[in-house]
Amino acid sequence: MTFMAPYILVIGSANVDFTVQVERLPQVGETVSGGDFRVSYGGKGANQALAAHLAGAPVLMIARLGRDPNGDALYRHLTAAGISAQGLWRDDEAPSGVALIMVDSQGRNLIATAPGSNRCLSVADLQALDPSAFNGPILLTQLETPLDTVEYSLQRALSAGMITILNPAPAQPLGAEFLGLVHILTPNETEASLLSGLVVTDLESARQAGERLLSMGCRTVILTLGEQGAMLVCRQEVRHFPPFPVTPVDTTAAGDAFNGALAAALFAGMNLEQAIVRANAAGALCVTKRGAQEALPTRQQIEALIEGTR
Ligand code: ADP
Repeated sequence: MTFMAPYILVIGSANVDFTVQVERLPQVGETVSGGDFRVSYGGKGANQALAAHLAGAPVLMIARLGRDPNGDALYRHLTAAGISAQGLWRDDEAPSGVALIMVDSQGRNLIATAPGSNRCLSVADLQALDPSAFNGPILLTQLETPLDTVEYSLQRALSAGMITILNPAPAQPLGAEFLGLVHILTPNETEASLLSGLVVTDLESARQAGERLLSMGCRTVILTLGEQGAMLVCRQEVRHFPPFPVTPVDTTAAGDAFNGALAAALFAGMNLEQAIVRANAAGALCVTKRGAQEALPTRQQIEALIEGTR
């Protein structure tokens, strides 16, 4: 199957999230009754693919969904949202990835995840892909699929001349060789701390962690700093991007909104600084709404926030 580039190539995870809102979180062995139930769609790969799509870019997402009712629902949801069905593969054995979430009245949560078919996205899968999949200008990937698959996708993209963006989430240690495959690394404070060995708490420690990551082989680091905005650290410059002023309601998927919008802006031909402003605005808009994919902003909303604060 050939793929009609150009698009942003997202290789990553998709999950169904099952959430019960409870008065209080149960103790071990206890049942807390009377909650409200909600199904939503997540996974960092799917969130970032949708974020990039909503931010205005065509997206090819490569993911493994189970051949089960959750996989059917994910497939319908993602294709209805505008993600091409071409890269949404079904796994005949593993169930779709799920997260079981309990949230109490204060917003505290208990979460258990089962990666299921996301764990089955293999190097062999990517080797079997038509080479045209790597014809686009940008790869955007994360760490919710097997590490060797992520590494292979970065290698393949690099040798095809693509820009590689890695959102190193969820946090896990990565070697210098791995980091050398990444053009743009986008850790949050936790991930930057784990990867650099320097605890990130403020702008100064963010700069130091970014510089340490450069010395470990990264070419460009963009640290996302929550309510402190974002910081670009590369050989040419260190620059802080202050946050857009918003009233946060729920920070879920802020990093995903940031990464998707960053890739979409680069795809549209903006320079790195302009793209970070877009991403910063997308992250800020995301925290003003509840939920994950429901909270991702459109290109028009991102542009309106930037225009409004000029
Ligand atoms: P993650 O969700 O991965 O932990 P962050 O918390 O760093 O990511 O948030 C990602 C981005 O979202 C930030 O870099 C910033 O652009 C935006 N953001 C997050 N929280 C806020 C906030 N309270 N006000 C404005 N922007 C925010």
